[in-house]
Amino acid sequence: MGSNVRHRHPTTDAYAHAYRRDPTSPTLDSTIAALRRPGGGLSLAAEAGRFTLHYQPGTLADGDTDYLVTLTERALTHVNKTLGASPTWHFDLYIAGTPFAYPGETSRGYTLAYGRQVFHRYDATGPLVELESGLAHELTHLTALNEFRPASSAMFSEGLAVYVQWPILEAAGWLQLDQVCAAMHSTGALPTALYLTSDAAGYNGYLDQDNYMASGCFVTFLVSRWGMEKVTQLYHSAAWEAVTGLTLAELDRLWIEETAAQASEIVVEAKALVDLLEEIGNAYAYQAAHLKEIEGQPASWALDGLRVTWRMGRFDKARAYTDEFYALTANP
Ligand SMILES: [Zn+2]
Repeated sequence: MGSNVRHRHPTTDAYAHAYRRDPTSPTLDSTIAALRRPGGGLSLAAEAGRFTLHYQPGTLADGDTDYLVTLTERALTHVNKTLGASPTWHFDLYIAGTPFAYPGETSRGYTLAYGRQVFHRYDATGPLVELESGLAHELTHLTALNEFRPASSAMFSEGLAVYVQWPILEAAGWLQLDQVCAAMHSTGALPTALYLTSDAAGYNGYLDQDNYMASGCFVTFLVSRWGMEKVTQLYHSAAWEAVTGLTLAELDRLWIEETAAQASEIVVEAKALVDLLEEIGNAYAYQAAHLKEIEGQPASWALDGLRVTWRMGRFDKARAYTDEFYALTANP
């Protein structure tokens, strides 16, 4: 079954509108509500070793279960290898067939790590490589909390997840993480690690995209200098000096110097990259603020298109999706 799935997910510009979605499909809220009912749970489930895949009839997942299991196992292998972890505990993966219900519509995936539950949308609004990368992001949250204890800051939690997920996109020829941060630095948009680890830094779901990307770069820097094992010690302790011999301010300076030194290697259009990254956050914020008026899914498909084409480094397409998003959300 899995082998004939790929052609159903075109990676061309048309992917965001390739399929008709069923607006009556269950949303994440109904998924959680179903779980909480006595004797509840979703109507369909597939056992896959370490995890149970839950889905609902009539959604894209129904019929693609073999492929979803394969994709999840691949993402898991990547996460465990990158983190140097070998967990054996069981978890539940819930696949929603549509954008999540209000107020979660801005998320594609999220994780209730203590409950060992991962939720992800699967509605053909992105190439499969992005789904695999999104699963790796959520599975990193799940694994890190259960194996390394809670993160000391959102910087570490999100930074580690971005660090783990991004190579999957890079392998597909999408934007490289170091290019993103070099471009952000060259335009003055790169936040410092001191800021990222402070209470002042907002992460707000996906609203503050620059913080997510910068955190991923700072974690990349830490891993490249001190290795994953020390980074997993820092993850929950933030004992910068004890683990690395340097203060956070000193680490920050080193990281910024290293990023600045990459200026001559920037091959992307730095200003377009940074402007559109901000547009993604703005569009998510706009959607969250106007969700009830926006109604329907086309606007979230345009937003998916914006995020995906930005990650591909196709900035003209991303600009077109930005326009489409606001055209679809404008009040008549
Ligand atoms: Zn996250």
